[in-house]
This record gives sequence, structure tokens and C-alpha cells, in this order.
Amino acid sequence: MGKQGLAILHVDGLSYRYLLKALEQGRMPFVKHLVDEEGYEVLRYRCGIPSTTPFAQAGILYGDNSEIPSFRWWDKQSGLEVSFGGMSTFKHVAHKYFGGSDPLVRDGASIATCFPSAAAATYRLAYREHGYSMNRPPFSQKRALANWALNPLHLLDWTWRGLLQIWKANLQYWRTLLSGRPAAKMYIVSDMLEEILLHQLTRFATVEAMQEGYASIYAAFYAYDETAHAFGPESDYSFRILRHIDNTIRRIAANRQGKADGRDYELVILSDHGQVETVPFDRQYGHRLGEIVSEWLPTFEVEELKGKRFTPKAAIDGHILLTFSGGLAHWYFKDISWRLGYDEIEERFPGLVAKVAGTPGIGFVLLRNGDENHILTSEAHFRFDAEGRLPRGARDFLARYDEPDVLACQLDRLNSFHRSGDMILFGEYLDDHQINFENQVGGHGSVGGEQLFPFILAKREWKFNTADVIGSYQLYPLLKRLRDKLVVPGMG
Ligand SMILES: [Zn+2]
Repeated sequence: MGKQGLAILHVDGLSYRYLLKALEQGRMPFVKHLVDEEGYEVLRYRCGIPSTTPFAQAGILYGDNSEIPSFRWWDKQSGLEVSFGGMSTFKHVAHKYFGGSDPLVRDGASIATCFPSAAAATYRLAYREHGYSMNRPPFSQKRALANWALNPLHLLDWTWRGLLQIWKANLQYWRTLLSGRPAAKMYIVSDMLEEILLHQLTRFATVEAMQEGYASIYAAFYAYDETAHAFGPESDYSFRILRHIDNTIRRIAANRQGKADGRDYELVILSDHGQVETVPFDRQYGHRLGEIVSEWLPTFEVEELKGKRFTPKAAIDGHILLTFSGGLAHWYFKDISWRLGYDEIEERFPGLVAKVAGTPGIGFVLLRNGDENHILTSEAHFRFDAEGRLPRGARDFLARYDEPDVLACQLDRLNSFHRSGDMILFGEYLDDHQINFENQVGGHGSVGGEQLFPFILAKREWKFNTADVIGSYQLYPLLKRLRDKLVVPGMG
């Protein structure tokens, strides 16, 4: 047998349920072929909380995603906003992460991921949301771009597809508006063009990495997630994007069998989190969350990330930062250098926690006191720790989102992070809709519904059992075992 390798394709934001639906509707014929003809099975797993890409992807790539509380957060120790946006600032705190871990794509190729993953080749594609590069860009990144752009057929193909997509997206946008449904306009047009370019570059780089024989490859595709943010996870347009993704998977799969002295690749396809339909908080309640907070604490400057800034006209006593990831919000008292506990907040700001928990649109608030978790809702106050039994009331309350014991464990983990907010706010989840702090039609980051349930497509013979996986970091040992089986250690 020749050399083998592992190629993992990450389809961002596609939940287990919507994948099954897409298969049923014939939208992903190649993936269906993998299931019907090549011995693959679709498995559901739990990504954990927050249901966001940096958290889930770090878990899969390193087996460790602690202290990644969200898509964007405030690092009190470094006095820094950390985010994966266009100006990704993760590089400034990257030295604090993944120290002792064995990256899944060590010496492999990491393509369009949030993290460089100690890969020999990091194809950093200029991407607004997820792109991340080290200070010194690796040589291979430039090469991938140059090789791609040097082929005039690629540019022609991209321009043509881009124009077609823009035309379709705009048509869809107006149709959606005319039918009375919301569509998040900010994602349209320029983003689509960029998305198509990125998608094609990622595919190109993946095939190139296979031809060059990297032992392990991880490539991330964000087109479905982006489209679902704009139109909703179940919209026809988002589902049509899945056909493009299916086509991409087919084209990558066509290169699985290496040349004479190349590598034969096993393929794993997975997602990092799902998405749910959302209703923006301010549209539902007429005020932004930051605005409400600035009314409670009129001498504090309140800043929303991303959002607005509310500055007092007179003296300022302190600064509050609210960082939003879909239906999840972290509340930081920026002037205090440690994470405040429940008792301390009650002492400094009597009655504030109850006000937050009683705000319409807030499902519950999570705080820490030593090792103890506090959940406050508009009606109740539950306490539990990692060891003890969950109180009856808490059990009943959590059951509306997922298995109470599983959820309690996931919440305890997020609440143990030093970089979580002093308070963690969860948007209400009602009638399959998430009250969202960002202006999106589809969203994720919080708890409730499909956002917590991504998928992994694996061969039955690998015997992956994901029923007990309650965080993406628990996928890592399964994938590492497969990698080590395929790639003989030391033989690259
Ligand atoms: Zn997303």
C-alpha cells in the first residue's frame, strides 16, 4: 500500500438536521453518493457553548478550546479586544493558546482556518471573518494565490460565477423583501463576490496541497454560513449554495487517489456548529441592549462590539464592553482587571443582575462565584457546580434547550473561562427563533435548536461514536487516532 493521508473539509454553519434535509431534497448528490456507495454515515455531535467557529475549530484542530469564550471578547489581562474580524487581533494573544497540544494538521496544510495550526503550509486567504495569519506570512500562502491567479481560466471562471451569484443574490434579496421576510442587506453584493473568490481559492489550495502530498489537510468553507446569516439557514438560497459546496467536495474527492508516488487520501467532512433563524433584539424590543445598559448605569460609557457606543454627557465612572456573537453577549466591566464574581457584582451594583435577567429578550444570565455557577432568569435564581446534582428547577429550565445535564456541563465550562464576561447573557430562544444581538437572519453562538448540533461524515468502518461528544474538542481524539493510523508517525 502506498502512502496515505487525511483531508478534512469543514463546511461552516451547516447543522446535522439541515444536512439531512439537503440530502433528502437531492441538493447534495455527491455527499449522498458517499453515504449510499462509499460506506459513510452522517453523525450528529454537540459543538458545545459558545456555538461559534473559533471555539469549535480550535477544539477540532488542537483538542483544546478553553479560554475562547466567543467570536469576539475582551482580554482583561492584555487590555485587548480579541476578534476574528477583518482586523483579526487574535495574533496578539495567540501565545497564550495551544501550548502543549499536538495539532491535528501538524506539518500538514491548513487552509482558510482561524488558526495556523502549526501547519507546514498555511494558506491564508484574505478573508474578512475568519482569516488569520502570523506576522510573517508563510511563503506557500503567496504561492497559492499566485498560482491561482496566473491561470486566466480561473479569473474568467471567477468573474463569471461572481457576476452570476451577485445577480442571483440581489434577485433573492428583493424577492425576500417583497415577500415580507427580512434579509440582512450588509452581506449582499461585495461579500458575495469575495465569498465566491474565497471558496474557489480554498478549493484550489486544497487540491494543490493534495498534489503536493501533505499528510494532513484541513480546509474550511464558509459560503453556506455567510449565506445563512443573510437569508436564514433553511432558505432556498442557502440550500442552493449547498449544491456548490457539494460540487466542490466532488472536485476535491476526484483528487483523492494520488499519482504513482503520491498519497491516497481519506476524506472527512464536518461542520463546526449549526444555525437558527433569528430576530434582532433591537427590532423586536425597539432599543439596543447597549442603550438599555446605559440607562441603568448613566455614568458609564457603554460600547457594543459590534454595534454602537453610548457615552455619558458628564463625568464617566467606568467603561462597559458588550461583545456580541449572535445570541450570546459577554458583559465586561473594563476597568476591573479580574473577572467579577456574582457576590462582587451584587455588592458594587445592587440589583443590577436582576435587572439584566428581567429584561425582555434575555433568556438567562450566567455568572460565576468561585466554583459555583449562577443562572438567573426573570423568575428564578439557580446555583450549581460541576460536581453536585443539578437542582430540580434548573433541570426543568435547561430542558427547554437540551439535555439538562449536558447543558449544565457545557455552561460550567464556558463559565470557568477567565476571559468570559463578568456576566454572560443568552438571548431568549422562542418558537425556533433566537433573539439575536447581531443584525442577522440566521445566527449562532448561543443555546437552543440546531446551532448546537453540527455533523461529521465519517466511514462506518472507523467506528466514530459521537453520541457522547458534548464539545468539539472531543472530536479531536477520534480524528487524531484516524490520522495516526493513516499517517505512520515519523514517516510524514
Ligand atoms: Zn457564522
